[in-house]
Amino acid sequence: MEGKSITVRLKDKVAIITGAASGIGKATAKLFAEHGAKVVVADIDKDGGNQTVAKIHNAGNEAIYVQTDVTIKADTEQMVAQTVKTYGKLDILFNNAGIAMRLPVAELPEDDWHHCLNVNLTGVFLCAKAAIPAMQQNGGGSIINMSSIFGIVGADVRAAYVASKGAVTNLTRGMALDYAQDNIRVNCICPGFVETPLVAGVVRTPEEYQKLADKHPLRRLGQPEEIAYGALYLASDESAFVTGIALPIDGGYTAG
Ligand code: NAD
Repeated sequence: MEGKSITVRLKDKVAIITGAASGIGKATAKLFAEHGAKVVVADIDKDGGNQTVAKIHNAGNEAIYVQTDVTIKADTEQMVAQTVKTYGKLDILFNNAGIAMRLPVAELPEDDWHHCLNVNLTGVFLCAKAAIPAMQQNGGGSIINMSSIFGIVGADVRAAYVASKGAVTNLTRGMALDYAQDNIRVNCICPGFVETPLVAGVVRTPEEYQKLADKHPLRRLGQPEEIAYGALYLASDESAFVTGIALPIDGGYTAG
C-alpha cells in the first residue's frame, strides 16, 4: 500500500491480536495499524512480537507488545488490562494464536492433545473471557476467532488440530448468540493453507507445494495478507450486521 492513498477503516479503534509475532497475525497487525488502529501485539514470542511492533512504528503507526501466553488466565487478564491502561478501551480482539499438530489419535501423546486444545481452543476462551467485560463497558466490539478449513471439513493425521478448529467454529456461534445483546459481534475465519512458518514444515520442496496447492481450486496457497483483509472486514464497522459467521478464505478448498 506504500505510496497509495487508502481509506482508513479502523480509525481510533483499539485492537488486540494474539499470535502477532509471526505469519497471519503479524500481517494483520501491520494492516490494522495502517488502517488507523492502535494495535496490541500479544504473543508468547518476545523477540518476534517486538519486531512486529518495530515494523509498525517504522511505518509511523501505533502499537505495543504485551507478552502473553494465551493458555494462562493471568496473562490474558494482564493483556486486556495493559490495553485499557495504554489506549483507554478495547474494540477488537483477534484470537489468532495457534499451533499445528500432525498425528492421528492412536499415535498422539495425551500431553500433545491437551497442549493443542489448550492453545487453539482454551486460548480463545480465556482471551474472550478477559476481553468481554472491557467490550461491554465500551458499548460493543468485534471478536474474530481463528478457525481453519479444518473447522469446516475434516482432515487426516491432524486429530487434535481438527478437533480444536471444529470447536472454535461452533464456539464462535455460541458466543455470537450470547453477546449480540451487548453489541459484541463474534465471527471466525477459516483459511486454507497459507504460506507461514506454521506450514513450512509440510512444504519443503516444489513438489510438496504443488501437491498441497492442487487441493485448492485456485491452485496455490494463500498469503498472510489475504487472510488479514478478511480480518479487517470483520473488525471494521463495514461488517456491523455480521455475527456468528465462519468465513472461508481458502482458494475454494471447501467449495467442493
Ligand atoms: P505462525 O506459526 O506463523 O504464527 C503463530 C503465532 O502464534 C506465533 O507467533 C506463536 O509464537 C504464537 N503462539 C503460539 N502459541 C502461543 C501461545 N500459547 N500464546 C501466545 N501466542 C502463541 O502460524 P500462522 O500460520 O500465522 O497461524 C496463525 C493462526 O492461523 C493459527 O491459529 C493457525 O491454526 C491458523 N491457520 C493457519 C493456516 C496456515 O495454513 N498457515 C491455515 C488455517 C488456519
